[in-house]
Amino acid sequence: MKKESLRRRALAAWYARSARPLPWRAGKPDPYRAWLAEIMLQQTRVSQGLPYYHRFLKRFPDVRRLAGASEGEVLKAWEGLGYYSRARNLHAAARHVAAEQAGVFPDTAEGWRALPGVGPYTAAALASTVNGHPACLVDGNVKRVLSRWFAREEEMDSAAGERWCWAMAERLMPPAGLDEPSPGDWNQALMELGALVCLPKNPACGACPVARWCAARAKGAPERYPAKKPKKKPPHVEVAAGALRRGNEVLLGRRPEGGMLAGLWEFPGGKIEPGETPKAALAREWREELGARIIVGARLGAVDHAYSHFTMTLILYACRLRQGSPLPAPLKHIELRWAGPAAWRRLALPAASRRLLEFL
Ligand code: SF4
Repeated sequence: MKKESLRRRALAAWYARSARPLPWRAGKPDPYRAWLAEIMLQQTRVSQGLPYYHRFLKRFPDVRRLAGASEGEVLKAWEGLGYYSRARNLHAAARHVAAEQAGVFPDTAEGWRALPGVGPYTAAALASTVNGHPACLVDGNVKRVLSRWFAREEEMDSAAGERWCWAMAERLMPPAGLDEPSPGDWNQALMELGALVCLPKNPACGACPVARWCAARAKGAPERYPAKKPKKKPPHVEVAAGALRRGNEVLLGRRPEGGMLAGLWEFPGGKIEPGETPKAALAREWREELGARIIVGARLGAVDHAYSHFTMTLILYACRLRQGSPLPAPLKHIELRWAGPAAWRRLALPAASRRLLEFL
């Protein structure tokens, strides 16, 4: 039997024994649950995403229920997961499936790909696991596993590395056959090996079901693969935010649709420019963006937050109105509102802004 077939069987047998019993894997694949899991777990660890998955599914048990919800309800159910464009795309896709496809999900990779928020990786994952099509896929785990099996020297994130990896994933896709894993199981097995055994640091080669066919292990240096670019430190920004109070309420602004954190509620404020004090930056932002002059008072607290491409320190100050009344500026906030504790629970806020509420 050919080496590739032996390796496929060994990996498939390990997957059948050792795969994590994730809820969307149980029983016959359900397109709604599989799609929700794929979108939710983009840029989110499984352990972190699972409680959200269960809560979201309880709140929106099927695609019609999700399609019928308001955007605010969907964003609220997503709150804390970050990357909110995923939630908006999920909602738009649910509305499309409910209205245009009679609630039926696509059955090809091209069909999945046509839904908002579904890229080539997600389309291939869904077409293979839900529909059983031989659609290959490449993610970070697959890149690491393949680069180690073949001890490839190039960076897997380079154009050449990506090309090689996709071509190899296609070559390794099992042919149809009784003794072969299904395309969905094969894709999941490759990713599961990367998630549980072939880890970026300290891969558990001793417990690896395909160790005997691994060139990186044979060279005695699995961790050397894939080659990595030296990481640049992400830029850091400081942002000042103002808490203007009225009784037990505070003024919040809703970010515009489109762009980062679109549609979420936050304390008005803005970036501290070089050479500016936080208080001066805050007074300037309120003057420029809300048309109101404020007296900036005590520093109430600060939180640090890491986004994918920068880190931020968000500092909250108490403030009082000196002149004017705040008005929304379309580029900054499409709506302003006074919100008390009941509204804080109901409205969707970015994680960093929600943590600021503790300082009030
Ligand atoms: Fe990864 Fe080690 Fe298995 Fe090779 S032998 S695939 S490096 S865990």
